[in-house]
Amino acid sequence: MVDEEIGEEETPVETFDVSYSCLRCGTSVLNSELSRLPEIKCICGFRVFTKDRPPVVKTVKAI
Ligand SMILES: [Zn+2]
Repeated sequence: MVDEEIGEEETPVETFDVSYSCLRCGTSVLNSELSRLPEIKCICGFRVFTKDRPPVVKTVKAI
């Protein structure tokens, strides 16, 4: 017999906001805003977004 634990199904929720910018007009939209929309679409009607990357901080070793 397998003792099955019945737990609540937890859906991993991304708490951080990822921002995307429209490839056409450059409007940045937050991931949370996009998920609220019935379809992923920019205000300009374009549907291609690029993920905004946070600026990469490079550590330069100073000698
Ligand atoms: Zn756009």
